[in-house]
Amino acid sequence: MTRSEFVEDTAGSVAGIAFVGCGLLTATTGYAQAPAYAQAPAVAPARRRAVVVNGQRAKTVDVHAHCSVPEAMALLGLKVATPTLLMAQPADRLRAMDEQGIDVEALSINPYWYKAERDVAKELIRIQNEKLAEVCAANPERFVAFASVALQHPDLAAEQLEEGVKKYGLRGAGVGGSVNGLELADPKFHPFWAKAEQLGVLVFIHPQATGAPTELGSRLKGNGGLDNVIGNPLETTIALSHLIFEGTLDQFPGLKICAAHGGGYLPSYAGRSDAGCVTFPDRCTKPLRKKPTEYLRQLYFDSLVFTPEALRHLVAETGSSQIVMGTDYPFPWTKTSVDHILSTPGLTDAERAAMLGGTAAKLLGIKE
Ligand SMILES: [Zn+2]
Repeated sequence: MTRSEFVEDTAGSVAGIAFVGCGLLTATTGYAQAPAYAQAPAVAPARRRAVVVNGQRAKTVDVHAHCSVPEAMALLGLKVATPTLLMAQPADRLRAMDEQGIDVEALSINPYWYKAERDVAKELIRIQNEKLAEVCAANPERFVAFASVALQHPDLAAEQLEEGVKKYGLRGAGVGGSVNGLELADPKFHPFWAKAEQLGVLVFIHPQATGAPTELGSRLKGNGGLDNVIGNPLETTIALSHLIFEGTLDQFPGLKICAAHGGGYLPSYAGRSDAGCVTFPDRCTKPLRKKPTEYLRQLYFDSLVFTPEALRHLVAETGSSQIVMGTDYPFPWTKTSVDHILSTPGLTDAERAAMLGGTAAKLLGIKE
């Protein structure tokens, strides 16, 4: 094991015991010098885990963290089903972040408003982005947020993104993997992509469960929650594939896109995307500037792929510079996102620090 495979707790956490434990770790892993926490006075909040990579405090950023704004949902007669999504009293969330070693969450809201008429959508998004800004302002060291946008009205979505960034200080946009059955690559959405590219902000693509009325949706019913377990990553796979093959990424080469759940299945079977046009050239009528898999190296992916081997492979296909940490909070898919990155083989300390938060901090304008 390399030294960077360990994480230290702050001296403040259960003082003496943790300190002795860390001291042992330090000895075992051969730190040349005591890590920063060891010199720090014990003023850190109790149990806040400070992630250290090779003796350096590494700022950690979670790009995949959900929340809800009930005031906005009320416009469509909806209620928050998962209380942990609420931000009014974020103490539980902050405690979970502290325990897991997450310094900053980039909050996003899964779209539920894609069927809303323009006027309702306009008001709903205004309320929502305003509330997101308030939440971030109340804890500016711990939260940033993606704007929500009414992508079903692309020109409005472009305005909302600009207002979200410039007026509310939001750091990008969160969008679904499709919009009312339309692909994100549909030319209808070009005004939104143009604005995102112009502003240079990150767009976080998060899939929505594949609905039952479709043939695929019906097949994903039954035991195991397959609509989520495989339906969600499949939707991301389809969305990214169209953005590549329809030429959207050629048309907007400056786009910064981050896909949830490690990009779904696309990076794990990427070679087939290259082989398709070679095997059946008549099915590839739109020329692309690059091989399909080369676009993976300009997209970003969260690290939510569960095992060190899966993350190692994701890095091999996309590059460590394209991976950012994602937890899916408050949904308890994982509580060990930090350790996952630390325990993935074959990474340098600098790569681990970048994946834990350095890259996301740059993309989201977070001070390192
Ligand atoms: Zn999620």
